[in-house]
Amino acid sequence: MNILLLGSGGREHALAWKLAQSPLCDRLFAAPGNPGIAEHAELVALDATDHAATVAFCEAHRVGLVVIGPEAPLVDGLADSLRAAGFAVFGPSRLAAQLEGSKGFTKDLCARAEIPTAGYERVTSEAAGLAALARFGAPVVIKADGLAAGKGVTVAMTLAEAEEAVREIFSGRFGEAGAEAVIEEFLEGEEASFFALTDGSTIMPFGSAQDHKRVGDGDTGPNTGGMGAYSPARVLTPLLEGEVLSKIVAPTVRAMADAGMPYSGVLYAGLMLTAEGPKLIEYNARFGDPECQVLMMRLESDVAEILLACAENRLSACQQPAFSRDTALTVVMAAEGYPGTPKKGGRIDGIPSAELNGAKVFHAGTALGIDGVLTANGGRVLNVTARGETVRAAQTAAYAAVDTIVFPEGFCRRDIGKNEVAREIV
Ligand code: ATP
Repeated sequence: MNILLLGSGGREHALAWKLAQSPLCDRLFAAPGNPGIAEHAELVALDATDHAATVAFCEAHRVGLVVIGPEAPLVDGLADSLRAAGFAVFGPSRLAAQLEGSKGFTKDLCARAEIPTAGYERVTSEAAGLAALARFGAPVVIKADGLAAGKGVTVAMTLAEAEEAVREIFSGRFGEAGAEAVIEEFLEGEEASFFALTDGSTIMPFGSAQDHKRVGDGDTGPNTGGMGAYSPARVLTPLLEGEVLSKIVAPTVRAMADAGMPYSGVLYAGLMLTAEGPKLIEYNARFGDPECQVLMMRLESDVAEILLACAENRLSACQQPAFSRDTALTVVMAAEGYPGTPKKGGRIDGIPSAELNGAKVFHAGTALGIDGVLTANGGRVLNVTARGETVRAAQTAAYAAVDTIVFPEGFCRRDIGKNEVAREIV
């Protein structure tokens, strides 16, 4: 079978690495891909916003499975266009991707299906937003409704900060994504991510992870796309996972099917583990980046077989995925300036030596010059990923690999997995 993988980040490099290992995979195409993905796939110049061109490519290359990595093409309905042309697609339809694309949509669904989540109000004007704030008090959370690359959320500790966030959203800064806002009750607890594959009826648990959003050690500085992650998230005990499945994921899958928009693909639940139990913070309609890298590092099953079964509505006949009991931990190496304006062009050496002891270096924003020199070409540049029997062992192996890489214009956090290591010691 030929497979087309869409995307260009570390998430897609990890998927490409696993897909290429599958006996089901004949040719693996990736668009646009990156130099790391090029080690496993044939890169093609295909614009995923051009649905007709993507369909034509799949026809010309007899593609048996399309795997859509990022959220933008999903929210844009690429899966619908491909399915209408008869292709098997891993990823939800445009309507189902609203679970990520519209926070208001998801909150209303949670309310209807009695899914535990923060109390909320949807507002469509600055005046309504300010009035809602007066009812919620501080601390409070303000979110632009649509996709805003993680920049549309403010956790406000004071009312003044909250009012400023409401004004900012309705100033038009977020375009369409800010035509509406959600005001939310502030939840306290530890965050964890839970993944499930579903074909619209069957649900297959697919592991857990915890990430590190802030740019600096000790969770300081601005938010980023994620500076590191590890899997599994041991705080999500089997008991809590059962609760997440029965009270959050299963009612969501049922409610989506009942609403005539069955969800197919990976459902990524961002959770807050509160004193009252796990509550849903948000859904993503795709694998997390860098959470996907740690999941793929632990996955022992054939990922192509599972994603194809999901795309073809046959998950019920598919075996449960096997994950290593090891912990996998990834450290993001970013270019100086990230998450502001990252410095491009910094030279990177030493990846082959970093991988000598079993670590895997997934590429995100890299470029390969005609001289064979690898350089930084984005904010998050490399995801240095390792496994270990304990979190500490995985952390030690990942940082040993990081320290082998020569990237003078890059930086990373030095404390990925710190809380989990501390718990392991106790
Ligand atoms: P991203 O794309 O970065 O995952 P997002 O823009 O989709 O984020 P959310 O995940 O909803 O937005 O929120 C971002 C972060 O804000 C969460 O990871 C969490 O730390 C914090 N947060 C969101 N909602 C709440 C809440 N109700 N109470 C406390 N913290 C919250």
